[in-house]
Amino acid sequence: MTKLHSTALAMLQQRCPRCHESPLFTHSALNPVHFAEMPEHCPVCGQAYEPEPGFYWGAMFISYAFSTAIMLITGLLVYFLFHDPAVWVYVTSVAVVAVLLTPLSLRYSRTLMLYWFGGITYRHRRPKTRQEAVSSYLSN
Ligand SMILES: [Zn+2]
Repeated sequence: MTKLHSTALAMLQQRCPRCHESPLFTHSALNPVHFAEMPEHCPVCGQAYEPEPGFYWGAMFISYAFSTAIMLITGLLVYFLFHDPAVWVYVTSVAVVAVLLTPLSLRYSRTLMLYWFGGITYRHRRPKTRQEAVSSYLSN
């Protein structure tokens, strides 16, 4: 796992907001069953990914904003690409695109919820000096 110093890049790659190293989700977004599963804690720094019970209820509002944007953009693309087709074309294309983008919408809404409202700040962990590495190796 590589460390990202940029919070925007860590958010984009859905990494832990505290250490920017570990992924927030256990499976790929392409996994149709487990795309929303998150570990309880970060395996690198131990940060809890659900700061309080029901924390991700607020992500529903962010997901709603994503869905609205997806439907609006898809509707506009259909309008301009197909020169205002029949209503069933709009409904079908918006529904298909919205369903296909559901994993991304859910994952990014949870990520934004954790970054914006989780009260977690990035802590840069400096690498161990040679002396610290040797002493920790000898103590084990
Ligand atoms: Zn972490």
